[in-house]
Amino acid sequence: TTRSVGLLFGGCSGEHEISIASARAIAQAFSLDSNQAAYTLLPFYIQKNGQWCDGASAQQVLASGQPLASEATDTPSERWHLPPTVAEVDVWFPILHGPNGEDGAVQGLLKLMQTPFVGSGILGSAIGMDKLAMKMVFAQVGLPQVNYMGITRAQVWSNPCVHPKLCDEIEATLAYPCFVKPANLGSSVGISKVRDRTQLEAALDSAASYDRRLIVEAGVVAREVECAVLGNDAPQASIVGEITYQSDFYDYETKYTEGKADLIIPAHLPASITTQIQTMATQAFTAIDAAGLARVDFFYVEATGDVFINEINTMPGFTATSMYPQLWAASGIPFPVLVDRLVQLAFERHA
Ligand code: ADP
Ligand code: MG
Ligand code: MG
Repeated sequence: TTRSVGLLFGGCSGEHEISIASARAIAQAFSLDSNQAAYTLLPFYIQKNGQWCDGASAQQVLASGQPLASEATDTPSERWHLPPTVAEVDVWFPILHGPNGEDGAVQGLLKLMQTPFVGSGILGSAIGMDKLAMKMVFAQVGLPQVNYMGITRAQVWSNPCVHPKLCDEIEATLAYPCFVKPANLGSSVGISKVRDRTQLEAALDSAASYDRRLIVEAGVVAREVECAVLGNDAPQASIVGEITYQSDFYDYETKYTEGKADLIIPAHLPASITTQIQTMATQAFTAIDAAGLARVDFFYVEATGDVFINEINTMPGFTATSMYPQLWAASGIPFPVLVDRLVQLAFERHA
């Protein structure tokens, strides 16, 4: 029997366009003979305003790669109305990145529908999205991290605007350069690297405009290496990849401009470092209660041999050229097989 896969993409997030690109790659994998026999694809597109579309409109976005313009006249009841075809879905593949899609919100909805879905549940998604919660969990299981401070918007926007005492404390605890980040975002949105007090004040003010929760981290000079994880209760780690670029750090522009960053697969690392990264990756996956898939990112300080965990992403970029599927392809699992495996894992976890 063929099963219907609900491919859920787009979404109310700054990563809407990236989600469309990921969905196109996944839809293509489902159209291959090997998967076509087993699955019927039902695309569901979430517009930027939150409205769901099925059928021809969703197909059109998949075919063109272009977002649909949101209707200016939508009402809450239209936004909450799900197309009746959601009832035909046997398993969901929510390929949504960032807030609302990767943070447990959509996972809660799919759980209420009582339908299996690919990827982490509410808890794993929420912890993986919030950099502060993530770091607290990682610290608890002994994973090494750079020094950091959690800050709230209320602290930043107290009177006077950015309080000098807050900056004094950051300078004393972390020094420069440091990284200021909104806790719940991705794709480097809202992140600044700062080198002095003026930049620090501006960065705190900016990050506070994105999120109530902020994090400031000590900057490290390190190679950026990533490991893909696949599985549920016995997660497997892929070979390790590296990202190289010319810019100051791996910011939004570097991530999404063709040719600004290179993926090196496998990363050229001592065997013991590779093993350490793979072990840390599955530990991180289990620690936050991730499921199905995640990409775990690290800083490798070559001079000292230190490996610090940076973050986990529970719904990593999934285009044919993205790091996650490339790491598995290089580890012996081609893209269409990976997609099939993820659907199987969704059923196994739901059972
Ligand atoms: P996102 O979830 O948006 O990808 P990250 O925490 O991974 O946010 O930060 C984005 C990029 O900023 C990293 O890939 C790295 O290039 C740089 N960066 C972040 N934190 C640090 C740090 N503590 N030291 C050095 N570079 C950092
Ligand atoms: Mg991230
Ligand atoms: Mg990152």
